[in-house]
Amino acid sequence: MNIALIAHDKKKPEMINFTTAYSAILKKHQLFATGTTGQKIQEASELPIIRFQSGPLGGDQQIGARIANEEMDMVIFFRDPLTAQPHEPDITALLRLCDVHQIPVATNLAGAEIMIRALERGEINWRNNADEMKDQV
Ligand code: PGA
Repeated sequence: MNIALIAHDKKKPEMINFTTAYSAILKKHQLFATGTTGQKIQEASELPIIRFQSGPLGGDQQIGARIANEEMDMVIFFRDPLTAQPHEPDITALLRLCDVHQIPVATNLAGAEIMIRALERGEINWRNNADEMKDQV
């Protein structure tokens, strides 16, 4: 599975704890992240990550493009609901594309924990047919 990891600044420690705690599961998948989130995860763990631009510089849109191409199977996005983000339109667009393409997305730690356990149990394996979905959207 291709998994995107994004965390706003105040949520980055939470993302580091999450990826460290679930590294045994995450390392079986291809991980992607926005620039700074990916850098912090890499500093804290051995997980290989493909990094896009930093979020405010277009990283969310790069992940959105992967979603539009059915190349992303899950998004874990720890949003900070209490701080205004300069790239709010990009964030809205990314979440909208998750809805358009039926991509499992968690925007907080509680949801992410449920989703990663579902991933481990194979409950998201239907995404393996994503290529076929390209024609159905
Ligand atoms: P960052 O971007 O990982 O580069 O900080 C995340 C975001 O703010 O969307």
